[in-house]
Amino acid sequence: MTPVETLRGEKVAVFGLGGSGLSTVRALVASGAEVAAWDDGETARARASAEGFRLVDLSQAEWSAFRLLVLAPGVPLTHPEPHWTVKRARAAGVPVVGDIELFARERAARAPKAPFVAITGTNGKSTTTALIAHVLREAGRDVALGGNIGVPVLDLPPPAEGRVHVIECSSFQIDLAPSLAPSVGLLINITPDHLDRHGDLAGYAAVKERLVADADVALIGVDDEPSRAICARLKRAGRRVVAISAAPSPLADVFVEGHRIVQRDSSEVPIDLGAVRALRGAHNGQNAAFAFAAADALGVSRADIARGFATFPGLAHRMEQVGRRGRVLFVNDSKATNADAAEKALLSFRDIHWILGGKAKVGGVEPLRPLFSRVAKAYLIGAAADDFAATLDGAVPFQHCGTLARAIAAAAEDAARSAADEPVVLLSPACASYDQFANFEARGDAFRAQVQNLLNGGT
Ligand code: ADP
Repeated sequence: MTPVETLRGEKVAVFGLGGSGLSTVRALVASGAEVAAWDDGETARARASAEGFRLVDLSQAEWSAFRLLVLAPGVPLTHPEPHWTVKRARAAGVPVVGDIELFARERAARAPKAPFVAITGTNGKSTTTALIAHVLREAGRDVALGGNIGVPVLDLPPPAEGRVHVIECSSFQIDLAPSLAPSVGLLINITPDHLDRHGDLAGYAAVKERLVADADVALIGVDDEPSRAICARLKRAGRRVVAISAAPSPLADVFVEGHRIVQRDSSEVPIDLGAVRALRGAHNGQNAAFAFAAADALGVSRADIARGFATFPGLAHRMEQVGRRGRVLFVNDSKATNADAAEKALLSFRDIHWILGGKAKVGGVEPLRPLFSRVAKAYLIGAAADDFAATLDGAVPFQHCGTLARAIAAAAEDAARSAADEPVVLLSPACASYDQFANFEARGDAFRAQVQNLLNGGT
């Protein structure tokens, strides 16, 4: 845990008592802050009170007494409308921050030279964060990994010079971290997403820019217009910037060419991703180029980076290769909850036995039509089945399977009969999971378990 020494003895309001909110309360209490914790939900309040924390109904509180309001990242700060606690805080002149801000302040006060890698982007954050942490660990560094990916930042050990913090930041977390100044800041890409929470693309891009604006070294993608503009602006301002592209580009200092990561003006051998199974697909080339540049900025040798890439196991539920039977590969891409994410998986394989469906998102799978030629057959599950069948009709053979278990059995049987070199049974649902599963993790876990059962001779 990172105790928040900078707030010792202060009165602090914390709203939103999920995973990161509770972690904040623990870290504040451990360092002697006087915490007033609250949540709109009764279950969350009960959990906090079971841990012995003091609940204070913030709607009845005297706000001028608080030094800060620490808000959970899921609670609206600006759009569609500021949460009532934000309005109360503003009216009383109380700053509103998040747990990453508390971490940034601790680092500035206690260990300003402690290496701190912060990662954001619309897509690829978790993969890039996990890859950087893996490469650094394999190179023998002491790594603390967390933020938006898993462990809340204040649950990690405190910043120290011999320890690298590798922290994934969502735009909501950046919005709540005004003094974010990482040693290495990564902005992978910016595409429209979460605009309901940021107003418009310009507002969303402005938030993302803040993660790199004060970084000692800024790694910025140049494959989309908003990121390119940010990259150019920081370069003009004389900041240390490394421009990164997923394809050869005159704008990029580090780019991907075929399977290789190339660093312009370097005489060292490029890193070959050809044999790295966990980093298949152009999108992973982009993630790997960023991870390379981050590790390079921290002084990791080319040989150590290449070794780290080669042993990267990949992340669960993101094109995770869960098994093989003969030539047939089984891939769990349960994280693909919309067509955009499923597109990455369809682009990465051929002769695909595609399991899809669930609770449909707006637009369905129509945007994936140009990739239908890669699909040998589709296996439909969940509530979206009829909608998807209408889109696929005439373009791709399909079968209504209802449940994931039936879909796996049918797809495995068909794939085994395929003449292709590497037929793939792919769960990439292009849907939310809530109609049949608690979340995308539960759906992916069910896929993995059922495939393993099948590979072990079950049915
Ligand atoms: P995030 O943490 O930003 O949601 P993940 O690394 O968890 O991203 O990847 C989620 C999904 O997004 C992947 O399954 C893949 O479909 C897609 N994806 C991953 N990296 C990229 C990228 N660099 N560009 C576009 N899409 C990507």
